[in-house]
Amino acid sequence: MVKLKTKEEINLMYESAQLVSKTLGMLVKEVKPGVTSLYLDKLAEEFIRDHEAIPGFLGMYDFPNTLCMSPNEQVVHGIPNNKPLKEGDIISIDCGALKNGFYGDQAYTFAVGEISPEVQKMMEITKRSLYAGIKKCKAGNKIGDISFAIQLICENAGYGVVKELVGHGLGRDMHEDPQVPNYGKKGSGVRIEEGLVIAIEPMINLGTDRVKFHNDGWTVTTRDNQPSCHFEHDVAVVDGQPRLLSTFKYIYEAQGISSDEEEEFLYQPL
Ligand code: MG
Ligand code: MG
Repeated sequence: MVKLKTKEEINLMYESAQLVSKTLGMLVKEVKPGVTSLYLDKLAEEFIRDHEAIPGFLGMYDFPNTLCMSPNEQVVHGIPNNKPLKEGDIISIDCGALKNGFYGDQAYTFAVGEISPEVQKMMEITKRSLYAGIKKCKAGNKIGDISFAIQLICENAGYGVVKELVGHGLGRDMHEDPQVPNYGKKGSGVRIEEGLVIAIEPMINLGTDRVKFHNDGWTVTTRDNQPSCHFEHDVAVVDGQPRLLSTFKYIYEAQGISSDEEEEFLYQPL
């Protein structure tokens, strides 16, 4: 059952999402060769707790850490470890936080030093597909319109769209209805209504769309071991329109990048 949110609830969710966004922004300067994902995980946990919130993933379905850290061929749900990052890696960092009873959930794939142009391009196109999906998240459309927009852009570029893992409704639970696949048919699925809040999160592979689920119960990798990336935003339908509760602006500020990609989706809390 889809739980639509009131304006007051969306304001609280904005706070949760913004805290996750700030956590990812805080990590930017620390993501570099030689640093371990476990160290980044500790930084994130401290940061979230310092802001009167609780790490959202820690202990959820028995996940052992604050961040899902998925380097290179790992798609999602990687467990932080003591292996240092190295020049040319990419790492997808997925972060959740629970604040005021509501979850925020956001992911971003970071380059570690210089990366190959083809991987850089995959990341840019995946992000473009995320915003194309967000644009379709308006009242009267269907979830399939979001799914179709993401799939079209990524498959036209020759990438593998992961099918086994999907976006989701977000609220007092991390994973609520509806599911938000990154593939599908226009006009199919649940109708998008005022007060819907969902996490849209394309998981896109450079090669095959096939993935492998590992015995640790968490790690998911590409079947061909080529790199994969993951970008996620929390989106609310307010006055019929898609509004971003999360932001990449803290990441871009730390990277010294200017971007207007979020401008048409900005949310003004009451
Ligand atoms: Mg996430
Ligand atoms: Mg999510």
